Amino acid sequence: MPYAWIVEPGSKVKLSDYDPDHIEGLDKEQGRAKLAKLATEIEELQELMYAAKQTALLCVFQGRDTAGKDGAINKVLSYTNVQGCRVNYFKVPTPEEASHDFLWRVHKLTPGVGGITLFNRSHYEDVVVVRVHDLAPKEVWKDRYDEINSFEALLARSNTVILKFYLHIGKDEQRERLLDREKDDTKAWKLSVGDWKERELWDDYTEAYEDALTKCSTEHAPWRIVPANHKWFRDLAVAEAIRDALKPHRKEWMKHLEEIGRNAKAELAAYRKGSEL
Ligand code: ADP
Repeated sequence: MPYAWIVEPGSKVKLSDYDPDHIEGLDKEQGRAKLAKLATEIEELQELMYAAKQTALLCVFQGRDTAGKDGAINKVLSYTNVQGCRVNYFKVPTPEEASHDFLWRVHKLTPGVGGITLFNRSHYEDVVVVRVHDLAPKEVWKDRYDEINSFEALLARSNTVILKFYLHIGKDEQRERLLDREKDDTKAWKLSVGDWKERELWDDYTEAYEDALTKCSTEHAPWRIVPANHKWFRDLAVAEAIRDALKPHRKEWMKHLEEIGRNAKAELAAYRKGSEL
């Protein structure tokens, strides 16, 4: 069983069925040791992926305020090579972005083959925050689930592996994290009344997320629900999913790189013969 729960396509998600405290019987020390091993594997896989230029990896991070999107992304960055890894943040759309269809700003930031892109928020805001705050009429956002599925299918057909992480925290844990920010002067800059106001909409967000997880978990891009009350376990689950997603491609990348190597050697041999070096 993977550490994150993979939402079976076609199944209906009820978030209360998933325990945000889940740690699979591990303790923090064991978790850290496992993560270190996964990180080494991912490092090697990323290098091959970058060189082979046959596959791209898109990781989408969604979750409520304080769920740990920034933390999870920073952890991934700590064990990936910056040369092949990029992060994009999606905020309230700018006037230019808002003047286009909702996928316009997202599509152009998806990774090309060889690259890894991490999305901090994503096109899912357009069926979550937009729905919760009535920023677009239902007639508009209700069609977006299908539109998202078609978009992700197109990416998958274009050699992009898609990992979608819903970082699942409990309501009490969110309260603790928000209060922590008040206690810690070095975190106070993160304070916002808006976070407490959003918290009042907890149930509306639950409903919107449950629909997104239910309607947009597909064969080519299933959602993963990551137990996120424990940061070390969240990071472990994300790393495991990345390793598991990349590893099956290792053989084809190696094959391709060996072919490139053979061609390079033959070219070099022909050059040496010609120049009598
Ligand atoms: P974060 O909370 O991710 O650290 P911000 O405080 O700048 O960063 O929040 C970004 C805000 O942008 C969030 O409230 C998010 O819901 C909002 N947002 C992102 N995408 C959209 C969208 N398509 N429509 C409306 N609001 C959006």
